[in-house]
Amino acid sequence: MICIPITAGSNHEALKDLRLACASADLVELRLDYIDRPDLDSLLRDRPRPVIVTNRAVDQGGMYSGNESSRIDMLKKAIDLGADYIDIEHDCVDKIKDIGATKLIVSYHNFQETPHDIGRIHSGLANSGAHIAKLVTFANRIEDNYRIFEMLENSDFPTISFCMGELGQVSRILSLKYGGIFTFASLDKGKESAPGQLTIDDLTNIYHAREIGKTTAVYGLIGNPVDHSMGHVFHNGVFNKTGVDARYLRFKVDDLGGFIDSVKRFDIKGLSVTIPHKESIIQFIDEVDPVAEQIGAVNTVINDQGRLSGCNTDAPAAVSALEEVMINDAAGDRTEGNDAVSPVCNRNVTIIGAGGAARAIVFGLREKGANITVVNRNHDRARRLVDDAGCDYAAPDRLTEMNTDILINTTSVGMFPHVDESPVPEAVLKEGMVVFDIIYNPRETKLLKIARRKGCTILDGTEMFIKQAVLQSELFTGLRVAGGPGKRAKITPGFA
Ligand code: NAP
Repeated sequence: MICIPITAGSNHEALKDLRLACASADLVELRLDYIDRPDLDSLLRDRPRPVIVTNRAVDQGGMYSGNESSRIDMLKKAIDLGADYIDIEHDCVDKIKDIGATKLIVSYHNFQETPHDIGRIHSGLANSGAHIAKLVTFANRIEDNYRIFEMLENSDFPTISFCMGELGQVSRILSLKYGGIFTFASLDKGKESAPGQLTIDDLTNIYHAREIGKTTAVYGLIGNPVDHSMGHVFHNGVFNKTGVDARYLRFKVDDLGGFIDSVKRFDIKGLSVTIPHKESIIQFIDEVDPVAEQIGAVNTVINDQGRLSGCNTDAPAAVSALEEVMINDAAGDRTEGNDAVSPVCNRNVTIIGAGGAARAIVFGLREKGANITVVNRNHDRARRLVDDAGCDYAAPDRLTEMNTDILINTTSVGMFPHVDESPVPEAVLKEGMVVFDIIYNPRETKLLKIARRKGCTILDGTEMFIKQAVLQSELFTGLRVAGGPGKRAKITPGFA
């Protein structure tokens, strides 16, 4: 079930939001502490959905700043008016003696951390006379979510529990898998009642949260940052269209080793891997496919009952996207051609960057006979790549004098939110060049804008992204998905 909190500032606005929320939520929470002079009679009259009434004081993380007895009186009035639930902090339970037919939610909120003794705190809530226990903490590390899941798994008392904050967002979705009885969603962006709350639109249309249950398999992206990624839209779209009972989440991970323990303990079935973990994750993988091993970077992990295998779908995706744009570009003036030979064969390719994606693309293009030169800020990293792949290196200050046919940006320079940055000076770009920026957020980076203006053929990172995601999706689901390498991405579930 999904509950929408009403955080309007006036009674009039609250009534309006209440009506809107009732159209998409299973129940709503009236946050009296947000409403200036709330009129409970009008707010609770003719309600089409069950309502939780909450009146949280400032020192409890709420907005109510009046005196304590008036705060409690408002909750008592809600009980008299037959509110379905009232929510009260654990240390105030004694202040409400008679709750009539109203159900009592007893809450514990911690806005700083997820304490080590959440099991003990939860027992206290469950034994306080509550009908429902609500335990909400703050996630400082992604593993904090999994401590909440562990607590939920071990309890049969009706409980709402998740973590707040950016790192806790996954628990707002996955707590439903582990037994949480409902989760909260905002009516819209800007109407959140707590940090990390997702919108009702995202929870229902991307994550299909109401259908999440015990058997729902979990997949996800790990990296840092992850909020630019659209993988959750793509993969959840595929799961939804193909009827696979699985969800794909974004895990912002710093401590890779710690998270891999959670992957095994909670049976996360598969992962996409992004910056900065593509290379470092190899040490945790039991079986690395030979191509990924050669590349030295893994972007896909499959967990088969605790045994992790890794492969790399970036290389075929990038090469195929580039070949397609070059074939399409040449199609207009081509009189004869040899389709067996890749259009990148014998072309001078300059790769900017030497990270995980660069390594995949260098090895992929090397197989196709391209002449590759790597340019990177960190000289040692570039050296390692050119030594491994047997290609050339050039210092960044030589870029303008190089004879480049195809320039590929594999760095994150120009990616949201740093959209005003370009990885190369304007003078490097010449008419007739093919310029491929593997960034896909924004779709047209500053580099591509300049390249377009200069008469270059341009390719953004979307097609590569879709192709690598399609390959991943096939590995995750075992099903054929349209849009992979060699198949122009026409069907792209949920991805605009
Ligand atoms: P990575 O392994 O962390 O490598 C990052 C690369 O970017 C390194 O070469 C790094 O240089 C360089 N870099 C970062 N900040 C820089 C700066 N300010 N100035 C110059 N160079 C800088 O990351 P990755 O996994 O290869 O991913 C790189 C980018 O590709 C990301 O934007 C990612 O979203 C995108 N990507 C797109 C797709 C797709 O499907 N379209 C797939 C994979 C990746 P140093 O070595 O000097 O630190």
